[in-house]
Amino acid sequence: MSKITPLSESPSISIEGLTAAYGRIEVIHGVDLSVRAGSVFALLGPNGAGKSTLLKVLSSRVRATGGTVRIGEIELKKQSTESLTKAGICAIPEGRGVFPNLTVHDNLMMWSYQGVSQSQVETIAFEQFPKLKDRRKQLAGTLSGGEQQMLAISRALVGDPKVLLLDEISMGLAPLIVAELYELVAQIAERGVTILLVEQFVTTAVSVATDAAIMLHGKIHAQGTPEEMGEQALRAYLSGESAS
Ligand code: ATP
Repeated sequence: MSKITPLSESPSISIEGLTAAYGRIEVIHGVDLSVRAGSVFALLGPNGAGKSTLLKVLSSRVRATGGTVRIGEIELKKQSTESLTKAGICAIPEGRGVFPNLTVHDNLMMWSYQGVSQSQVETIAFEQFPKLKDRRKQLAGTLSGGEQQMLAISRALVGDPKVLLLDEISMGLAPLIVAELYELVAQIAERGVTILLVEQFVTTAVSVATDAAIMLHGKIHAQGTPEEMGEQALRAYLSGESAS
């Protein structure tokens, strides 16, 4: 896979002293993280480290209990919808981010409320993922796992995001499909979208990332090049990884 050249016009993400909790149990304990504008940043770490929670805080699905998050010049104040929209954040949650009982067409139409016409929505989505065009009338829940992820990502692209948060898009997919999805992630990055991704397939994440960090016990344990972080992650907690 090709490496991405960072573009200066996309926003950076700056996280300082971030804390978050589920009820009374704090699971993010003061995270400091700088994601360069236009980078593809891979957040690695074992299960339960807090990676998904961090992405959820950035997309306002979990409320921060302290600290600050800046997307470019915009501070995400109490994760208000307005600041999220202004910052151009789009999140693909863990699992399949589609409506399974709606057709591909209807899933895409759910995004036309953003002011993009219905035909534009399909043009944008099918341009990125031509395979979906043939599946237009099919229920999203009957697509293969990889196609459902393509649909979720194409819906996200319709909103022309500046920041894309990807939470384990490989979940439950065969390595070949994962490679195909990440080829698309690389193409999206080339448009200048800043991408923060959480991925269990360390080798795949490293092959597309420009920067990386390891999260452990709710904190950033190390930050560096994808190669360094990948090696460290595989040595430390994934010595048996076979997929890539
Ligand atoms: P995984 O790959 O397993 O999702 P992760 O690094 O993304 O790991 P998180 O899912 O962010 O980790 O979980 C961090 C901690 O928060 C874990 O201890 C987890 O049990 C806990 N946790 C996650 N979701 C909830 C929830 N909805 N309610 C309570 N605790 C939660």
